[in-house]
Amino acid sequence: MSRSLSNKDAGFRNKQERAEYFLLDERRLRQTKVTDLDRKLWEKVIQFSDFFEDMLFTPGTITYPFLECKISDDNGNEIAPTAVLPVGLHNFNYNSFYYRVREMTPPYMACFNKANYSLKVDPRHIDDDYVILHEMIHMHEFVLEIYPTYYHDAILYSLYHDLRSKIEDLDRRMERQGHIVMQEELAQFGGVHDLLFLLKSFDLDLRMNYPLGTVFGYGMAD
Ligand SMILES: [Zn+2]
Repeated sequence: MSRSLSNKDAGFRNKQERAEYFLLDERRLRQTKVTDLDRKLWEKVIQFSDFFEDMLFTPGTITYPFLECKISDDNGNEIAPTAVLPVGLHNFNYNSFYYRVREMTPPYMACFNKANYSLKVDPRHIDDDYVILHEMIHMHEFVLEIYPTYYHDAILYSLYHDLRSKIEDLDRRMERQGHIVMQEELAQFGGVHDLLFLLKSFDLDLRMNYPLGTVFGYGMAD
């Protein structure tokens, strides 16, 4: 099947179905030519994966209430069905991506490449966990981009609700980061660094005991 075929010719009903097909493509599960450093990167990603369960609506996380429903049946008995997640979130698997440690031209330290599903890190930064965490947010936001915005918004709201009691000047930080001039500048550097990205980066800073701004700024806290 060629990527140049139209959605209809390729048998996809819509853009979302096509994106899910390529996201869950199992060919990437059989990766070859993996170096020791590639494996080290992969192990770090798995080590940090628990921190990203909220971006997958896993039971017990701050986002899970957005899937739960409280409905009564005809007899007044409360039933609690759960909304069904789309396959890209429900079947999310870190095996769906390539992990590569390769030299990059400074100032680039790492990147998540949407076009070929790869997370690449420069060997000089393989021990900089904040760099890997930063790119993992890009990976998860990439999956969310396949779906309607309400998944993104549910996570954004849940993180805001959770962090506002933990970070005194959260609103000021969000207003500064969300300013269109700031967003335009960041967009030129590449990658989506929206408010969900900012909040998730603060959540990771707190989990890692980093000064606020470390994950967002690749180690440069403000
Ligand atoms: Zn980035």
